[in-house]
Amino acid sequence: MSGKPKPKPNAQRTSHTSQRTPVRAKNKNTAKALVLSTVAIVFLILAVYMYNQSTSNKEGSTRFNNPPSLVNQPVIGSDKAPVTLIEFGDYKCPSCKKWSEQIYPQLKSQYIDSGQAKLAFINTLFHGEESRLGAIAGEAVLKQNKEAFWEFNEAMFAAQPDSEQEWVTERKISEIAKSLPTQIDVKKLEADVADRTTSPQVDLDTSLVEKYRINLTPTLLINGTMVHNPFDMNEIKSLIDQELGD
Ligand code: CA
Repeated sequence: MSGKPKPKPNAQRTSHTSQRTPVRAKNKNTAKALVLSTVAIVFLILAVYMYNQSTSNKEGSTRFNNPPSLVNQPVIGSDKAPVTLIEFGDYKCPSCKKWSEQIYPQLKSQYIDSGQAKLAFINTLFHGEESRLGAIAGEAVLKQNKEAFWEFNEAMFAAQPDSEQEWVTERKISEIAKSLPTQIDVKKLEADVADRTTSPQVDLDTSLVEKYRINLTPTLLINGTMVHNPFDMNEIKSLIDQELGD
């Protein structure tokens, strides 16, 4: 039979009773520690929030301290360009067509081609399934060829009709892809679009749209500062020049 082991005769039971904190004081200290850690957590959350969020500069423009990451995004222009432009756009948005046709060419010739600025495009799906299909196709073209993406981007906006009719279809995408100056594998593109293989890239864009609370298309950021009116070349030029230190 095995019983409770007898304590060794000389074994001393260690007791820290005398050093223990009295229960009431202990509770008090625990409460104090809880309050302090809660305060610390609140400050930490606030700090992270402030870091991600925006501040207003003296002109009252929204400026994001931590602009969207360009990882896996199409970028046109020199990597070393000191100014980063980000367009949040949608192939189904009529204003984005206008921006692509009126503002983008000016930015390209004045700032992108000269190496002063680079531009990234982030899909912003504000017009339902057609927006999503166009975005999926754009990401699939990008996967094949970066130059072709920018040609496709322009061609998509150019193809947008004046009316609200349905036009972003798999057939239209293939037609546009075949017309690009840079040749891509159209069969592969068709398969990627049919299988929606670039959905994760489109979802990444949507997460950025949500994170930066983009609610208008097009939205233009210049080194993290949101342009009030993306059609106002004077405002755009002044912000870019400010960033260039002119
Ligand atoms: Ca993207």
